[in-house]
Amino acid sequence: MEELCPVCNEPLDEIYAVTCVVCGRKVHFHSSELPGDDCCQVVTQLGACGLSFMCNPCAMHVKAQ
Ligand SMILES: [Zn+2]
Ligand SMILES: [Zn+2]
Repeated sequence: MEELCPVCNEPLDEIYAVTCVVCGRKVHFHSSELPGDDCCQVVTQLGACGLSFMCNPCAMHVKAQ
């Protein structure tokens, strides 16, 4: 059950896969050391526990609004 990242079309590594809060797809998240070079971004939500993630296509969509 190998899944492909919808952003870069590379196979997902479970260790580095996170789920987008907008579309629910799994995408890569390698680290926060190289912002802009990942397939998703960290989303901080007030009142929510922990971190949420948004894939780059969804993040661009949100920013464009
Ligand atoms: Zn990816
Ligand atoms: Zn998404």
